[in-house]
Amino acid sequence: MILTKQHRCLHSASCVCTKGHLTEEVIFLVFNHLNWNPKLIVALSCTCKWFDDLAKRVLWKEFCKTRAPKMMLDLHSNGSHIVDGNWSALGKLLIYCSGNNKNGLFNNIHIPGHFVYRTRFSRTSGKSFLLPHCRTDVLYVSDPCEHLDQGEEGDVGFFRGIFKSFATSKVRKMLISRSAPMHPTEVCPYCKAKLWNMLAAKMIPSSASCRLGAYEDCIEYYVCLNGHVLGICTLLPLSDTDEASEE
Ligand SMILES: [Zn+2]
Ligand SMILES: [Zn+2]
Repeated sequence: MILTKQHRCLHSASCVCTKGHLTEEVIFLVFNHLNWNPKLIVALSCTCKWFDDLAKRVLWKEFCKTRAPKMMLDLHSNGSHIVDGNWSALGKLLIYCSGNNKNGLFNNIHIPGHFVYRTRFSRTSGKSFLLPHCRTDVLYVSDPCEHLDQGEEGDVGFFRGIFKSFATSKVRKMLISRSAPMHPTEVCPYCKAKLWNMLAAKMIPSSASCRLGAYEDCIEYYVCLNGHVLGICTLLPLSDTDEASEE
């Protein structure tokens, strides 16, 4: 008997789909109608291995192209490509602020991860996160996701991003030539790859904190082997004049 994808599903311990009535085409049409609802994709991926495969190949790709069409065109132009399977990582990057676990990537801050309704990613903003020598690299960085009044930490901002063609980027070359350390235990929340420490490599320019509206010595970020960026900063309070001008 030829094992179809639906049949293979029967052998997965975690799978609850025992009949495989739905074809890829039907799922595609249904999810198109649902505007590639990411929470539903995640929920179904957890229950069915067959669906998870389809989501990684097709659904996350359509999701990304629908939510950030210009950014996706740019990330994939000039022969650049995103390795198969990384569409789901990219999709999650667009809509999920990963927060931080106690004893996680960033000190002892505990802020749970959460979905975000919509985040703006900017290539211009990304330039501020690169040393002058590396500014020909293309990096998209989000606006900070603000978590206010986090005890001693004050106002915390998380930001995330992605490099275009990270494999051939100047940043990657420099990280390797400087023997930048990787985090010993934590991995990228989007693709599970190891993470380089940009602060330890002394590769965070002061323009980055300016861009975020953060204290200059209170910013750090990591880049994973696939070019996802994860960062944290302490945001400056609004000054009196800022508040006055808003009234
Ligand atoms: Zn957040
Ligand atoms: Zn990653």
